[in-house]
Amino acid sequence: MYMQSLPTRFDPMLYVRRAYEGEGRLSLKTMARLQNRLLDQEGEITYQVAFGVDAQSIKFVRGQVTGICHLQCQRCLESVDYNLYQEFQLGLVRSEQEADQLPQQYEPLILDEDCETISMTDLVEEEILLALPIVHVHEEGQCSVKVPVAAQAPVVDQEQQQKPRVNPFAVLKELKDLKQK
Ligand SMILES: [Zn+2]
Repeated sequence: MYMQSLPTRFDPMLYVRRAYEGEGRLSLKTMARLQNRLLDQEGEITYQVAFGVDAQSIKFVRGQVTGICHLQCQRCLESVDYNLYQEFQLGLVRSEQEADQLPQQYEPLILDEDCETISMTDLVEEEILLALPIVHVHEEGQCSVKVPVAAQAPVVDQEQQQKPRVNPFAVLKELKDLKQK
């Protein structure tokens, strides 16, 4: 059954009672907290949500967030696409105490006594913050900065580490030489 898309702010309990399921799109431009994590704010994010009550009477909202955003490659400092995919499962609670009692599969979404509405933009923004990697670089061959051969160091390092292992033979040889004397 088709339902109207979510308003900017809404009472989640109302949607829990309706067992609302739906999807929507949000512009990254509306998410201020993401500004210093993204290279630019181009792009749209799609979300899918489902509200309901589980077998243990826990009121929940679950769903997923997908989209493409632009990060700065930490190697060449140019733009690199990042494919966002974040699933979430939030338990709606009234206090920190209730939050502690939630089963492990739920992250708490604490509803303020004074302000019982939530914003889908805030919720999606929070999930994107959780999804973004701290460091992101182009895939091999797509970065304008080539990794220099010298930087492929493990091989060299291993050789250096293996050198001391050669020494026992030298010691053996010395012992052999001694015996022969
Ligand atoms: Zn790069």
